[in-house]
Amino acid sequence: MSTTDVDRATTHADEMGAPVDLDRCPLMPTYGPPRVAFVRGQGTWLWDRDGKRYLDLLSGLGVTALGHSHPAVAEALAEQARTLLHVSNLFGNDIAWQVATTLDRLVGDGEPAGGQVFFANSGGEANECALKLARRYGGRGRHVVVSAYGSFHGRTLATLHATGQPAKHEAFQPLPEGFRHVAWDDLDALAAALDPTVTAVLLEPVQGEGGVHPANAEYLQGVRRLCDERGALLIMDEVQTGLGRTGRWFGFQHFGVVPDVVTMAKALGNGVPIGACWARADVAAAFRPGDHASTFGGQPLATAAARTVLATMAAEDVPGRAARAGDRLRTALTGIDGVSGVRGLGLLLAVELTGGRSAEVATELLDQGVVVNAVTPTALRLAPSLLIDDAELDHAVTAIAAAIATVGVTE
Ligand code: PLP
Repeated sequence: MSTTDVDRATTHADEMGAPVDLDRCPLMPTYGPPRVAFVRGQGTWLWDRDGKRYLDLLSGLGVTALGHSHPAVAEALAEQARTLLHVSNLFGNDIAWQVATTLDRLVGDGEPAGGQVFFANSGGEANECALKLARRYGGRGRHVVVSAYGSFHGRTLATLHATGQPAKHEAFQPLPEGFRHVAWDDLDALAAALDPTVTAVLLEPVQGEGGVHPANAEYLQGVRRLCDERGALLIMDEVQTGLGRTGRWFGFQHFGVVPDVVTMAKALGNGVPIGACWARADVAAAFRPGDHASTFGGQPLATAAARTVLATMAAEDVPGRAARAGDRLRTALTGIDGVSGVRGLGLLLAVELTGGRSAEVATELLDQGVVVNAVTPTALRLAPSLLIDDAELDHAVTAIAAAIATVGVTE
């Protein structure tokens, strides 16, 4: 690496918004320079260092599904911090048992699904668990995992290879062996890829990072059939879609399929890092003590947050709220000049812009105090709190219309 590269990576403290007068950036240059640093959040709103208020339509990329600083979650965290933050997984933890039991019921759409849960600390780790479990279940010689182009499954070496975006692979070759990619929503392509070395198919019910593309019901039902015929597991990556966001507890519940393994993370802790991998009991039984572990996974603090998040979600009927709010938002956005379409499920939506230039529109919105994400060069992603109210939704629609008009992409 040249001195110039090193200089560029370490001397951009100002550009990165460092709060003190640092002469070098103390953070690795994995993220671009932010335009704003937020210091406080409440419900659907954020505040920056200067006290400016923003409507948050992104919720930390689908994480703060109950909004910022939810009082019940804050209280659960404070109470647990005063009681017991952490013990090793060498010992029992009643909270993890409770959360696992609730998750099993949610995977079963209200009825116990009869599966088991491993707790991790992120979506990537939840998927790592699923990949290792699929290898353990398949056994030697049956270890390949097939996923779709356009997918996103994480940034660890294995989940990076599962991610169907070859451009992201290049710098990190050689990646772990045993991954194969097929065209999204193409059953023939999947059928051709499912040879006897394949242990699992890994799919998102809605490709999130790939641009918010929901699967077709016939496709997912066909995938389920093919997996059954060829003896492969169906793993659903619900890291972004899970826990109410799409208008059901899990995205797969829209499509009339039941997966063998389900991974989740983002919304589970409402901002506290926690991930989970659920598997059918006979699949989970492939793991033996010592096969997989995590120091922090399932610790009392994170699971106390998750327990309160899940109880609050049930009390507020967040799937129902997300479905209703999503319908309202979709209808209103569809009528805007410069919007050629709105796709997604519930409150995970992409707004396709007639004139593209989504990054410019997102920047204009940020300047106007609204947080969105340019998920593709032509589309904005919206993933607000599932408790967003009608007035906030109307504010969002007005702001998006104004930003599109200002950037001038209405033609
Ligand atoms: N899977 C999906 C579908 C995701 O959207 C993401 C993150 O955006 C991940 C996995 C990775 O999760 P994490 O960043 O928590 O490791």
